[in-house]
Amino acid sequence: MRLDVVTLAPEAFAPLLSLGVIGRAFTAGIAALHLHNPRDHATDRYRKVDDEPYGGGAGMVLKPEPVFAAFEAIPRQGRRRVLLMSPQGRPLHQSDLQQWASFYDQLVLLCGHYEGFDERIRCLADEEVSIGDFVLTGGELPAATIINGVVRLLPGTVGTAASLEEESHSSLLLEHPHYTRPAEFRGMAVPAILRSGDHGAIARWRFEQQQERTLQRRPDLHARWIQEQGSAAAASSRPKAAERPGWKTDPPSDAQREDGMQLRIGNGYDIHRLVSGRPLILGGQRLEHPAGLGLDGHSDADVLVHALMDALLGALGLGDIGRYFPPDDPRWKGADSLELLGRVMDLIRERGWDVVNVDAVVVAEQPKLRPHIAAMQAAIAGRLGVEPDRVGVKATTNERLDATGREEGIACHAVALLQRP
Ligand code: SAH
Repeated sequence: MRLDVVTLAPEAFAPLLSLGVIGRAFTAGIAALHLHNPRDHATDRYRKVDDEPYGGGAGMVLKPEPVFAAFEAIPRQGRRRVLLMSPQGRPLHQSDLQQWASFYDQLVLLCGHYEGFDERIRCLADEEVSIGDFVLTGGELPAATIINGVVRLLPGTVGTAASLEEESHSSLLLEHPHYTRPAEFRGMAVPAILRSGDHGAIARWRFEQQQERTLQRRPDLHARWIQEQGSAAAASSRPKAAERPGWKTDPPSDAQREDGMQLRIGNGYDIHRLVSGRPLILGGQRLEHPAGLGLDGHSDADVLVHALMDALLGALGLGDIGRYFPPDDPRWKGADSLELLGRVMDLIRERGWDVVNVDAVVVAEQPKLRPHIAAMQAAIAGRLGVEPDRVGVKATTNERLDATGREEGIACHAVALLQRP
């Protein structure tokens, strides 16, 4: 992954390159860090990067020209996300780090200084990120925090994938306590169960500890976890904890799987305008409209696949496709929606979920979809990693009523069912 930081204090990033596992990841070429100082792009004699705010007030404001020039000189590499460090941004979560680490080839981090940015600098960013409800003097520590959190998730940086998965904040429960030798230290003994050699009992104890700790330290996360479990078994989890399977270490038996299975359902809808001079692509298939019309949109405008993606994301409360593939992002111009569906599936699998089935109904007066439905099902099933019989695709007309009936557009409704073993 390529990381570019726009900063007035590039020296602040030296420790990242030399310390510990993150330093080694840079040496091994897992990630590459490029630093860009707006001062090198200042055009006036004094290399001025800040100025007084219009309208008066305390402090200096970062000028737009040197920051834009530094930003525009950064070469683009594959899928890129631009993050602006700001205490006004969205609070950072582990799931953001996971998404950036798995989705993007390049992250650009913009660090503010002084009183902040000239407002126009904000338009360079895809999103604004805050590392917490407090104010620092510059964006360097927030940027270094993000780089550390993202690089440690890149394959090859940290030992095993399992150690990352068991980490606090990967799931809603905090991690259980750890102990190492000696068995007793200043009167504090290691819990006997950890020395028992009984792996099942240890797994149960750890799971119990996770719940206990989360309840004590982060009742907000515990409440969300209970809600996610959504079942009576979880609601009474405290007394029952000892009987729950140790999922993290023991593969669940069939009986346990039935007991612990979780299901989520999602709903998606999309409509695209019919226009001339555009291809008509549905379910990854190129169709011929009798009047030569096609669907308008930023990507290939495959309304069927878009509705499906929204249903899949919706099932996990992950928002809609606009959040992941914004229509003003040039990367997705003309994009193959089946390819985007593959990315959505990566997100879903990363969170431990699989597709049970999906079902969609396309609302179009023309052309006849029936001859193409099997090919659509096969193409979608391929991306979902399921058999084609788990993909329902149906077509209906709108009886010449409303926008779809007047052939102003083609719409699609979809639902998706996900399971987590
Ligand atoms: N006056 C500004 C704060 C400026 S702090 C305001 O009230 O919004 C200077 C810079 O430090 C910011 O531009 C930002 O890049 C960085 N920064 C400070 N606190 C931060 C936080 N909690 N998260 C992310 N960036 C922060």
